Amino acid sequence: MQSVQSKLKKGQKIVVQKNGDLKVPEHPIIPFIEGDGTGPDIWKAAVRVFDGAVEIAYGGQRSIVWKEVYAGEKANKLCGSWLPDDTVKDIAEYIVAIKGPLTTPVGGGFRSVNVALRQKLDLYACVRPVKYFEGVPSPMKRPQDIDMVVFRENTEDVYAGYEWQVGTKEGAKVIDFLNKKMGCQIREDSGIGIKPMSEFGSKRLIRRAIRYAIDHRRSSVTLVHKGNIMKYTEGAFKEWGYELAKTEFREQVLTEAEVAEKYGGVVPKDKVLVKDRIADAMFQQVLLRPSEYSVLAMPNLNGDYMSDALAAQIGGLGIAPGGNIGDKAAVFEATHGTAPKYANQDKVNPSSLILSGVMMLEHMGWGEASALIEGALSKTIKRKIVTYDFARQMEGATVVKCSDFADEVIGGM
Ligand code: NAP
Repeated sequence: MQSVQSKLKKGQKIVVQKNGDLKVPEHPIIPFIEGDGTGPDIWKAAVRVFDGAVEIAYGGQRSIVWKEVYAGEKANKLCGSWLPDDTVKDIAEYIVAIKGPLTTPVGGGFRSVNVALRQKLDLYACVRPVKYFEGVPSPMKRPQDIDMVVFRENTEDVYAGYEWQVGTKEGAKVIDFLNKKMGCQIREDSGIGIKPMSEFGSKRLIRRAIRYAIDHRRSSVTLVHKGNIMKYTEGAFKEWGYELAKTEFREQVLTEAEVAEKYGGVVPKDKVLVKDRIADAMFQQVLLRPSEYSVLAMPNLNGDYMSDALAAQIGGLGIAPGGNIGDKAAVFEATHGTAPKYANQDKVNPSSLILSGVMMLEHMGWGEASALIEGALSKTIKRKIVTYDFARQMEGATVVKCSDFADEVIGGM
């Protein structure tokens, strides 16, 4: 057996080039966090799928050199910290990483390890593709009509928010200031919250969404907001989005007004339609007319609701992957939690982590390997070979363990 050290010696670093594209060597070092609770179960299964796909796709010419880094309970036990500095440093250095779910510490000095990681590495876009795999139990009549990618702002809005509790000195001071100096009329027994949303933060998220739509030949980008009520935060998000689309992507995009005025309401094939919808209406749209939406750009809080609601439409978080992406680093992750009651039982569904790996491979430009995994996972589910969570909602399913599911996916490549 090769030692971890000698394996790492063979590995090389991924680098970000001047134009922002990644330069990926043949044997990149990729840090991983196995996660808490069921994290080790799904990691063990998923990593075999990743290695198998890379081996088959590139005939041994390429491989991933995995480097374990610690966060969560394991880190706390080994290093006395829920998120050691070395972990953040390693991810910043190696650019691309993947993680399982982490326990949210109770009174551990962090609101959430996940949020801390995103903030420290400035991973400003939470990207969630939502696509239906045939055979997955879904509450929708036509789940196959759903094929969206949500770009949710990951650093501002309520994530950068401030709150003051009712009855505190600070809360009273804020209310006094607002009532006396700013002409507000706030009841004294109120809790107060502030949500900042900047032009810089909004535009870089929307820029990434539009660029993705152009690169992946997606039909539209929808700016989803609650700007009818919160005009200078959510409303500004929409305005900044249109402004950015028209200044930075003028040749590639059209707005709905432009399409109506100049193209008789029909979007030319080579253009991306940029539109906006108010958040409450949008929650109806994704249920009633999902095929009309492709890429969504959303502020933090509304994007949070929408990502999980959409995941439910295609079968739940067990199969929804995610990526947290910044200009310098990216961390891909299972979107569900640690499901601690099933820990070490080799039972839960590894699909969310496997599909997060698919996103990671695509991000690295290793499309052949990612396509192999996606195809094989889809085939396995279609054959009704699934873990307990899907099996309990499917007729005639074969229930397999987490590790057996991975074997079936590998066998199907
Ligand atoms: P959870 O871990 O997602 O589990 C809730 C339920 O969802 C499970 O009991 C199970 O349902 C189902 N489930 C979750 N993952 C599954 C999988 N891979 N396969 C099949 N079923 C799965 O949510 P939680 O219990 O609220 O949270 C537990 C811990 O995880 C908390 O500390 C929380 O803060 C943390 N968390 C972390 C992340 C993250 O790291 N990104 C995200 C969310 C929560 P059944 O019991 O019905 O089978």
